[in-house]
Amino acid sequence: MADAAPSGKPIHIMGAGLSGLAAAIVLAKAGREVHVHDIRDDSGARFDGDFQALENWSMDADFFDQLEAWGLDASTFKATTFDTVDLIHPDDVITQAYTDGAAYRIVERGTSEHTIDQGFKRQAIEAGAHLHYKSRMKEEDCTIIACGPKGTSAVAYGEIFHTDHPNHIAFQLNDKLAPGSYSYLIIIDGVGLICTCLWRKQRKSDRFLNETIAWYETHYPNLNRQPIKRVGGKGDFTINRRYKQDGRYYVGESGGLQDFMWGFGMRMAVWSGVLAARDILGQADYEQEVRIKLMPYVRTSVANRWLMNRVGDRTYKWMCKSWMRDQKRRDDGLIWIGKLFRPTLLKRLLYRMVSPFMLVNDPKALGRGVRRLPFRAALKRDVWEPSPSAVSIGQQWEAVRRGGAHVSFANDKENDGEEQEISAISS
Ligand SMILES: Cc1cc2nc3c(=O)[nH]c(=O)nc-3n(C[C@H](O)[C@H](O)[C@H](O)COP(=O)(O)OP(=O)(O)OC[C@H]3O[C@@H](n4cnc5c(N)ncnc54)[C@H](O)[C@@H]3O)c2cc1C
Repeated sequence: MADAAPSGKPIHIMGAGLSGLAAAIVLAKAGREVHVHDIRDDSGARFDGDFQALENWSMDADFFDQLEAWGLDASTFKATTFDTVDLIHPDDVITQAYTDGAAYRIVERGTSEHTIDQGFKRQAIEAGAHLHYKSRMKEEDCTIIACGPKGTSAVAYGEIFHTDHPNHIAFQLNDKLAPGSYSYLIIIDGVGLICTCLWRKQRKSDRFLNETIAWYETHYPNLNRQPIKRVGGKGDFTINRRYKQDGRYYVGESGGLQDFMWGFGMRMAVWSGVLAARDILGQADYEQEVRIKLMPYVRTSVANRWLMNRVGDRTYKWMCKSWMRDQKRRDDGLIWIGKLFRPTLLKRLLYRMVSPFMLVNDPKALGRGVRRLPFRAALKRDVWEPSPSAVSIGQQWEAVRRGGAHVSFANDKENDGEEQEISAISS
């Protein structure tokens, strides 16, 4: 195995997000000199306080056990474990999916002390890594590329609010509110998030968020929502011919290591960062490990995305019903969803058949053979007039925004080009 960064030579990592910091922690703990560079002014600054779910259903191993085995400390950030979720069917029926163990853990992304980003940052500093913020390096001068998304395949857009509602999670499949995807409600300790994900490109994503909030207010009348800010971001889904090129390791979303179906990318980001570090330490072969351990899940998610792109509320209803039927039979709601994410021969074949038509080449990828899932065009059914309650939620937000509330994401600008998106986020 060639050592891309011979011992003694400092290792430069581009990006101080989850994958970059995971790699930095492992390397620094092994005594290597590590420098992590990030263009933003802190780890987590890309996210501004939104909640994300660390899924625990796609593999047999519990993610926190994996973290421990990799030498990463889950007690350095706040994680709230849930065993139940409201499953909202497209015809507004609400059922509960449950399990005995941890279905998923909600973490906060951002720069507050209790976020996962800051937890990883503290571990990296403690291990001896040097972190450089507002630092721009050339890709060619770094060993690990961990910059997160580059292109846009989908976006998520949400509102954060104060609430006196108890902790709660809801997951909704509804093709009108979340075209091609899902929306969700997360409430943790008096702070709520209502978010919609758009897998089809839309002008004015506010329209979808306002309508989604209106839906939740009608069906969860005790939210008592006091808006704080709006947040969001993009997802980048790519398949790469090579994950290591010219001695550089592409990890996390920079390597396209993401869940194409629904965007649960944190687990793969951390895992790939650890694998890259282990390769540098001579303990693993990154290219091979990615292919054996991560790609089967990525390919399955490509097949799932192809299927999702072809369906609407009728199939979502069928999915919800079959999920609930399966749960009744096995007394565990995690099995059905877990199976959806796990590799099978059928999904592998489907991936081979459909991926050539789903993905487009990225000519700027330094010869790594990157094929990206393009942001799909809107469908006729995405054009609808907002309801009166959604209009008044939009007006309420405008008043809050004029009072100084922050928007960390501007999708309409983002669709016009990458630079504008970065300035929209950091402004
Ligand atoms: C709104 C939203 C909700 C999501 N929800 C979930 C969820 O519930 N569950 C889940 O598992 N996943 C979720 N994801 C996906 C998840 O956030 C990503 O898969 C994960 O953060 C990827 O980790 P990363 O290390 O690749 O990138 P990041 O954690 O984003 O880190 C990338 C870092 O690189 C920096 N950077 C960018 N460009 C440069 C450059 N040129 N030079 C130096 N540094 C640079 C950035 O500032 C950033 O700090 C969500 C994503 C979004 C946008």
